[in-house]
Amino acid sequence: MVYIDKNELRENNSKDVYPTKDILGRPIKDLSNTEWWGIPRKEIEWYPRIDYERCIGCGLCFFTCSGRVVYDWDFEKMRPVVARPYNCMVGCDTCAKMCPRDAILFPPLGYLRKLRDKAQAIVQSRQRLRELREKICTSK
Ligand code: SF4
Ligand code: SF4
Repeated sequence: MVYIDKNELRENNSKDVYPTKDILGRPIKDLSNTEWWGIPRKEIEWYPRIDYERCIGCGLCFFTCSGRVVYDWDFEKMRPVVARPYNCMVGCDTCAKMCPRDAILFPPLGYLRKLRDKAQAIVQSRQRLRELREKICTSK
């Protein structure tokens, strides 16, 4: 059983299609339809995968990912569930670093760097900074 009490946890959601809070009361947003430097998030395979053979059910990953709420918790198996993979921030691997058993896997750094270059993220980033500088300087 994955613990999301849909009746209790949905608030102000007229379409009633997505829980707005998890069991800890953390707000849940569906970020799967966003873009990452112009690439649709769902086309990017960056999210945690759990090796359940290694996982000891400590819960650190579940508590650590508090902003994007990628994980739910299965209280029957006492194991994490990657419930919202596309909420994971591309490039983040904090939960994997916290895991005492190295049970959380992400794609290799090379995958991320190829993606960065494909998206021309550096060019875009510089352009954004130039625009911001313009905006700030002209507003003075
Ligand atoms: S941090 Fe690692 S060992 Fe702990 S519950 Fe998560 S995957 Fe399992
Ligand atoms: S890598 Fe970061 S954003 Fe992704 S699930 Fe782990 S803590 Fe959450």
